[in-house]
Amino acid sequence: MKLYSYHTLVLGSGAAGLAAAVRLRAEGVENVALLTEGLEQGTSINTGSDKQTYYKPSLCGATPDSPRAVAESYLVAGGADGDLALTEAATATRAFFHLVDLGVPFPRDSFGQYCGYRTDHDPARRATSCGPYTSREMCRALIREVKRRDVPILEDRVAVRLLAIPVDGEETEVPRRKLLGVVCVNCATREFEVYRAQNVVFAVGGPGGLYKRSVYPEVHTGAIGLALEIGALANGLPESQFGLASFTNLEGRRLSSGRTGATPKEFRWNVSGSFMQVVPKFVSTEQDGTTRPREFLKDYFKTPAEAHGLVFLKGYQWPFDARKALGGSSLIDLCVFYETTILGRRVFLDYRANPEGYAFSALPSEAREYLANSGAELATPIERLERLNPDAIALYRDWGVDLATEPLEIGVCAQHNNGGLAVDRWWRSVNVEGLYPIGEVAGTHGVARPGGSALNAGQVGAFRAAERIGRDALGASASPELESAFVSMAVEEVAELRRETTYAREHGYDWRVERDAFQRRMSDSGGFLRDEKRLARARTEAVEQLARLYSGKRAADRRDQSADAPVDADDVETMRNLQLCLAHKVYLDAIFDSVTAGVGSRGSQLALDPGGTTISDRFPSDWRAQEENVAFRSRVFCSYLTSKPGVDDSFATRSFWRDARPIPEPDEWFENVWRDYREGKIYD
Ligand SMILES: Cc1cc2nc3c(=O)[nH]c(=O)nc-3n(C[C@H](O)[C@H](O)[C@H](O)COP(=O)(O)OP(=O)(O)OC[C@H]3O[C@@H](n4cnc5c(N)ncnc54)[C@H](O)[C@@H]3O)c2cc1C
Repeated sequence: MKLYSYHTLVLGSGAAGLAAAVRLRAEGVENVALLTEGLEQGTSINTGSDKQTYYKPSLCGATPDSPRAVAESYLVAGGADGDLALTEAATATRAFFHLVDLGVPFPRDSFGQYCGYRTDHDPARRATSCGPYTSREMCRALIREVKRRDVPILEDRVAVRLLAIPVDGEETEVPRRKLLGVVCVNCATREFEVYRAQNVVFAVGGPGGLYKRSVYPEVHTGAIGLALEIGALANGLPESQFGLASFTNLEGRRLSSGRTGATPKEFRWNVSGSFMQVVPKFVSTEQDGTTRPREFLKDYFKTPAEAHGLVFLKGYQWPFDARKALGGSSLIDLCVFYETTILGRRVFLDYRANPEGYAFSALPSEAREYLANSGAELATPIERLERLNPDAIALYRDWGVDLATEPLEIGVCAQHNNGGLAVDRWWRSVNVEGLYPIGEVAGTHGVARPGGSALNAGQVGAFRAAERIGRDALGASASPELESAFVSMAVEEVAELRRETTYAREHGYDWRVERDAFQRRMSDSGGFLRDEKRLARARTEAVEQLARLYSGKRAADRRDQSADAPVDADDVETMRNLQLCLAHKVYLDAIFDSVTAGVGSRGSQLALDPGGTTISDRFPSDWRAQEENVAFRSRVFCSYLTSKPGVDDSFATRSFWRDARPIPEPDEWFENVWRDYREGKIYD
């Protein structure tokens, strides 16, 4: 076991972690390192969409805008705090121009105006984009800057445990911890490494590895479970975003030679924007992908035109939205989910021919106008797509998929978690000292947010955490007792992890089978359709699986493996499963608790209720939508793990609701702000 020490360790090299590394150096923190699975890993550098959106205040023309107005847009759907919304809004312009200065090609006009467009929940055309790969452009510019600033980059490392101790002192509602460091595996040397750090900027991304049907890139699993394992408090875990996405097995496909980055087994992409606006045909088949093909949408609508109009609207109403489930465009997601999950069929988009009954003249006027204005009043979906967005076709071609000759498999996929670890306005964990969750792993968003605000939030979190760490950098160094507690804890935790992997090996547990099991459970029960009975069953199964995976520590045949035996790739995935499986249980508990509290259908989730409204006669009779209980908009759902995995078999969580903090109304008189700033009171 190798031991290293840094003042601040940034864990994760997505757009958020990279920005934190840059900003920490800019704030004068010298002893900092960036530790990651790899610079080409994570969501930011591997994903995109039709027009990947970045949200910032309006910077164009005569559109009036202000931090407060942006914060208000953030809070429309509820479930989030006003102080965090105001901080994200107020720091957004600075973070945006930081990216511009680093060379991210956000478009501007000849006067230097960064004009924008409207995204969902956005009244002021605040959105901008560099095209399909905005977050990749951000990563590339930030990687250049991290290298220019000479921040050590420790690649090929997988963090497998956080080390924390309880904090003595006054009793608090949520137990407090102090973070001491991180246990990792160096996948190149196949050794354990332990990092002592006063601060860990935790930028490990969203929970991509929790779902079977997911549009997170396959390389990205996320690691929120590491923080949940040490009892970090989370906010809003039930609030995720789901929508229609394609997933294509890449086996045997010829990929473009110009592509960069690792090649996954499956290429995943949101079928938003023009993919829907050209109104493709929706076909379902038996599991072999060809038998008994059937155009199924027509079964759910009175007329073909009704279905085609809603498919068009899905283009810019991409995520599943409970408000659009009853007769709106999100009914399309429900139809796809019913075909795939309940009927056990596969669903494809076919761009080669029009759906049955397609007539341009019968489309809603909005669709006709859009297609006509774009010169896309053409005979087939593929021709329309070629005219509207040829890059969309080229993008699939790069991955060996020719939309002109083959159908594209789709499903309702998990895409983003609005919730995550609870932070204060400096992006410090609210109960784990030394932990700074930023990016998607931080839960600042509430029920819904304008499209593009995830990327902004990651940059803002990086700015805030770095500023705070830079300002506190001169704090007292740790006591010798703490240092020796750290070393003995590291030795014990590494030994425990070794016992878990030995146990798994000896008992024939295959990490692939285990991962498949919890991912399926999450997609079936913790997805966008929420049913109390299903969730209750899923939670029981989750506890059984966890007890099995955490057997090593308690096993009667408990035996220590040689302390320097190499760690192989399967061991790493077995250890990763511990935190992923634990996270899925905490998420299921959170979803169950919010459903039973009666929040109803909101955001990207639809709660089923025997007394609710029938969605469609074609669906099972118990698919009845519960109305949203709007009283919960002003409340924030909080939860944390109360058990110690491996010691206590309950894997129990505790959840509670608290009032959301309103947007603050601070003293904005310049002289007073200046004085507080000079005197450092802004950090109080
Ligand atoms: C298809 C799709 C489309 C999207 N479109 C938009 C959009 O238009 N606008 C928008 O704002 N947002 C969008 N999002 C969301 C947004 O892309 C993500 O929220 C954001 O990129 C997350 O950035 P991050 O830095 O927090 O995490 P990531 O980019 O996921 O980076 C996480 C990092 O942590 C590392 N890591 C994880 N676990 C470990 C571990 N155990 N040990 C070591 N390293 C680890 C990873 O390797 C990676 O380097 C989209 C997401 C998807 C999937």
